[in-house]
Amino acid sequence: MIRVRFAPSPTGYLHVGGLRTALYNYLLARRHGGKFLLRVEDTDRTRLVPDAVDNILDNLRWADIYPDEGVGCQPEGEHGPYTQSQRLPIYRKYADQLLEAGLAYRCFATAEELAEMRQNHGGYDRRYRDYDVAEAKKRADAGEAHVIRMKVPVGESLEFDDLVRGHVRFDSNQVDDQVILKSDGFPTYHLAAVVDDHEMEITHVIRGEEWLTSTPKHLLLYRFLGWTPPRFAHLSLVVNIQGKKLSKRDGDVSVNEYREQGYLPAGLLNFLALLGWSNGDNREVWSVSDMEKVFALERVHPSPAVFDFDKLRHINQQHLFAMEDTAIADLLPEWFTKAGLPVPERDYLVRVVGLMKQRCSLLPDFVGGASYFYQDPESFDETTARKRWKPESGELVREFADRLQALPGWTAVELEASLRELCEARGQGAAALIHPVRLGVSGVGGGPGLFEMLEVLGREVCVRRLRKAAEVLK
Ligand code: GLU
Repeated sequence: MIRVRFAPSPTGYLHVGGLRTALYNYLLARRHGGKFLLRVEDTDRTRLVPDAVDNILDNLRWADIYPDEGVGCQPEGEHGPYTQSQRLPIYRKYADQLLEAGLAYRCFATAEELAEMRQNHGGYDRRYRDYDVAEAKKRADAGEAHVIRMKVPVGESLEFDDLVRGHVRFDSNQVDDQVILKSDGFPTYHLAAVVDDHEMEITHVIRGEEWLTSTPKHLLLYRFLGWTPPRFAHLSLVVNIQGKKLSKRDGDVSVNEYREQGYLPAGLLNFLALLGWSNGDNREVWSVSDMEKVFALERVHPSPAVFDFDKLRHINQQHLFAMEDTAIADLLPEWFTKAGLPVPERDYLVRVVGLMKQRCSLLPDFVGGASYFYQDPESFDETTARKRWKPESGELVREFADRLQALPGWTAVELEASLRELCEARGQGAAALIHPVRLGVSGVGGGPGLFEMLEVLGREVCVRRLRKAAEVLK
């Protein structure tokens, strides 16, 4: 059975690149009826952010790619605990085993010594690698601070087949005698990840390219411990349009920021999936459930994936457009509350959504981008007024308001007929009234179809706004 894991370090809020990693893991598990685990890698105690785990869980729940096993599940599962800081004795046991087998050694180098080595040798000079074992044990037993390092063999070629990048080769001479257990008794990422991936029976490790250089160390640890390694797939970096690693400077990088802007989880996930994966066709719009049916690591590209904000917006728009009006309306109340506006009555909101759907890419566009559906305009767009409001407009608009007051029906068709009739009677083209009426009821020059808009706004609102506009605009 395929078992994969998302293994974030709680050193910050969930990043869009992290969500992509989680998504690919999730998709592979779903495709093959496997399990998707969440493991918290919190061994770097200096970089912990207190609410990071909650943030990660909350965002995975929002995205609906929640783990089947591990942190966040109740019960967590049979391979737990899934939080590394709760597994210290397990790592200690394996570190001791490696010590005993002569595949690791104690190192007593002080911080000053290490700094000096970095300066003069560009890294650790392996000075404790051949240190007397009995002596080292004595010093350790006496309580002297030390770390445990793995003994990386000299002059070996470390190779593996990456499911995304193909055959990868490292020279062991380029690999440090990596620390596996720190002086505080915590493992480093390398030991903890290998031990856990083995004990949790992970079959595929799917992670970001930044971990590629760790993989030769991991392969050695698997060999030292006598275990079969999982398959590896290293995902390409996410870059900006200039080809540089995506950073805060390019815009938003945390999932929260996209939620706050009103992206749909489906839109964001679709966009993230296409950052490095395609099904071999040009299909752009995907639901997660459709991707689950076809996702394959063979179709993940090794080249850097460009994060194009316009494309994200465009894809989100496609998802919004495909939704039922009622389903969109259900998501909107929180956006009214956020904007400090009362939540409109539901039937009304559904009708507004129907009119505005084509013009909105994000959820709050239905609120801020359509404010005239909820409030009388406070002002009239000046450029439009200059261009569209003629000396005779006030009189025409006032007359139209009177007609609307008395109009027997209130459908878009009747509204349009009434407007055209009036224009004809006054020897004017319809445009002489269409533009001023739009400006008068909405305060702006663009929007959905005018007569549909009047129909939704209703008689009382239209008449009131038009009379007010005729008074204010000169
Ligand atoms: N804890 C690592 C991270 O924060 C996970 C690397 C891995 O998946 O092995 O990205």
